[in-house]
Amino acid sequence: MTTGIIYDPIYLEHRIGQHVESHERLIAIMDLLKEKGILDDPNFKLIEPRSATLDQIRYVHSESLINEVKKISEIANSTGHIQNLDMDTSVSARTYEASLFSVGGNLEAVDRILKGDINNAFSIVRPPGHHSRKDKCSGFCIFNNIAITAEYLLREKKIKKLAIIDWDCHHGDGTQDIFYHGSPSEKSEVLFFSSHQDGRTLYPGSGFVNEVGSGKGEGKIINYPLPPKAADDTLMIFFEEIIKPICYDFKPEFILISAGFDTHWTDRLTNMGWTYQAPANFLYKLMTIADDIVKGRIAITLEGGYEIDKQAIAVYNCLRVLNNEKNRIIEEKPRKSDKDLLNYINTKLIPSMKTKLSTYWNCF
Ligand SMILES: [Zn+2]
Repeated sequence: MTTGIIYDPIYLEHRIGQHVESHERLIAIMDLLKEKGILDDPNFKLIEPRSATLDQIRYVHSESLINEVKKISEIANSTGHIQNLDMDTSVSARTYEASLFSVGGNLEAVDRILKGDINNAFSIVRPPGHHSRKDKCSGFCIFNNIAITAEYLLREKKIKKLAIIDWDCHHGDGTQDIFYHGSPSEKSEVLFFSSHQDGRTLYPGSGFVNEVGSGKGEGKIINYPLPPKAADDTLMIFFEEIIKPICYDFKPEFILISAGFDTHWTDRLTNMGWTYQAPANFLYKLMTIADDIVKGRIAITLEGGYEIDKQAIAVYNCLRVLNNEKNRIIEEKPRKSDKDLLNYINTKLIPSMKTKLSTYWNCF
């Protein structure tokens, strides 16, 4: 079993000052992996990313967005000052280049999986991507890494169907928007699951049950908006009640994961209640179906996570699970959702999702 880790110091060069989406996040992750011996373990392979091509970025983004990122990076370079694309999305002198490698790291990961060089992979990249739309960068994101990777698999690698699972605490609104009317590639299908803190209580304010896609994408956008303080148990319900039956019905050929770790109960930007072992336990469940339906082909990309030490542990835990070593994850005291919250999930949220989705899926 070989798990790929895609990383390069170029990702530290998106250097945006005191911003919470700091290069320190990746330094902490890599330090922990080194300390825990993962980087010396032959079951893990450290892989250098490549730069994505502009044609690949164009799979999901407009020419004007690409030019804007390039131009603003050049201004940051010539002035020596960090620039802003919007209120919370900053750009430094090497952001454009780092962003091309952030996408390219994910492309390299899926290539290696398809070649059989590795079984699965985690791309430890930044800037993140899931809030970026065709025409607009936002929410700390530049190019939509996971959406471009999905389109790459569909257009260049003959994959016909794939599933994206986004467990970042914020709704993956950019990814949803790109695939809302179906994949931009003709004849291909993309299924998008997003679990996140309810948009009434957190940026970006979207991701409700009634957002199910339209046209060719109808029924393939699946949102699981969680109330603040939802704990690990709510994620397992999502897996058992929604993800598992739909994936067996849909039969994707590849699973891509947008992994944010800002769901931790201490995260400064959010109000969720997950432990740092929750994502790994969720991933473990996903791997049980991945073996059946996608030959274990899972590629994970890093999104958010702003408590630096906690997100590092959560990434480490996911790597252990990818490598079939769940027994080696680091666990903190378990957390459970309160009774009323669980009652809401079981008697309101899940039934309303099933009612809505039963129009499109035979499993309900
Ligand atoms: Zn987030």
